[in-house]
Amino acid sequence: MTEEKRGRLYLSATPIGNLEDMTFRAVRILGEADLIAAEDTRHTRKLLSHYDIHTAATSYHEHNKLTKGPELVEKMQSGAVVVCVSDAGLPGISDPGAHLAQLAIEAGIEVSPLPGANAALSALICSGLDTTAFTFYGFLPRTGKKRRELLSRVKESPETLIFYEAPHHLRETLGQLCEALGEMRPAVAARELTKHYEEFNRRTLGELLAYYQENEPRGEFVLIVSGFDSSREASAEAAAPADPVELVARLESEGVPRKEAMRQAAQTLNMSRRDIYNLLLQAEK
Ligand code: SAM
Repeated sequence: MTEEKRGRLYLSATPIGNLEDMTFRAVRILGEADLIAAEDTRHTRKLLSHYDIHTAATSYHEHNKLTKGPELVEKMQSGAVVVCVSDAGLPGISDPGAHLAQLAIEAGIEVSPLPGANAALSALICSGLDTTAFTFYGFLPRTGKKRRELLSRVKESPETLIFYEAPHHLRETLGQLCEALGEMRPAVAARELTKHYEEFNRRTLGELLAYYQENEPRGEFVLIVSGFDSSREASAEAAAPADPVELVARLESEGVPRKEAMRQAAQTLNMSRRDIYNLLLQAEK
C-alpha cells in the first residue's frame, strides 16, 4: 500500500548578506520541495542558482498574500511540500510569512522552521548589551503619533530594545530615540551584518546621533538600545551639568552640532529650546 504524500509548510531562513549562511538542511529541503513561495522570485533565484537548486518558485508577498495564501494551502492539502522564503533572514520577521503560517495551521498542515540568519538576533548577540530579556520592535511605526506613543510606552521598559531602520531614516529615528529615551542610553548601530563592511558602532544614543550627523548612514542597520536602568539614569542626571550654557558647550565639545546640542539640553533640563537659545545669546554677549 502506498503511503499518501503529506503536505507541509517550511519557513526557511535565507542569508542576510553572506550567501554561505545557509544550513545543509535548508539547502537539501529547498532542493527536494515541490514549490518555493518567495517574496521576490528574481532575488531568490540568485540564491537558488548559487546552490544549484532547480525547484519551481512562485511569488508570495504582502500584496498578494490574501489570494496566494489560500492557493498555497490548497496545494499543501493535496500533498505539496512548500518552502516559504523572504528576501533575507527569517520569513515572518518584518517580512511576509506569518500569514501563510497562520493559514496553514488553521488548515491542519504541519509547519516547520528551517532556522538560520536573522538580523535582529545576530546584532543583539554581538552588541555587548544585555541579552537575557529583550523586545523586538522591527521598524517603528512611520506616523509621528503612533511612533511617539510606542516610544513613550517603552521608555521605562527594562529589556533591551531592538529596531530595524533604513539608512535614510536613521538620523531621524536616532533623534527621536534620544528625545524619548534620553541621550545617555548605551546603544549599538549594527551595520551590514555578515557583509564586507560589517560594523558595530557601540556608543550612547546621543553619541550615535552625533556620529551619523557627521557620517552619512549607508547600508542596512539594526539598532540595539539598552533598557531602562534607574540607577544609570540617576547618575547620568547627577553628572549632567545643570547649567544650560555649560551643557550645550559640553555637548558641542563632544562633536554634537549646536542645534542638536540645544535640543538635547532642552530635553535634559526640561526647558524650552527658545529659553536655551536666549541664555546662549546672553552668555555670548
Ligand atoms: N526577515 C529579516 C530578518 O530576519 O532579519 C528582516 C527583513 S526587514 C525587511 C529588513 C531590515 O532588516 C533592514 O532594513 C535592516 O534593518 C535589517 N537587516 C537586514 N539585513 C541586515 C544586515 N545584513 N545588516 C544589518 N541589518 C540588516
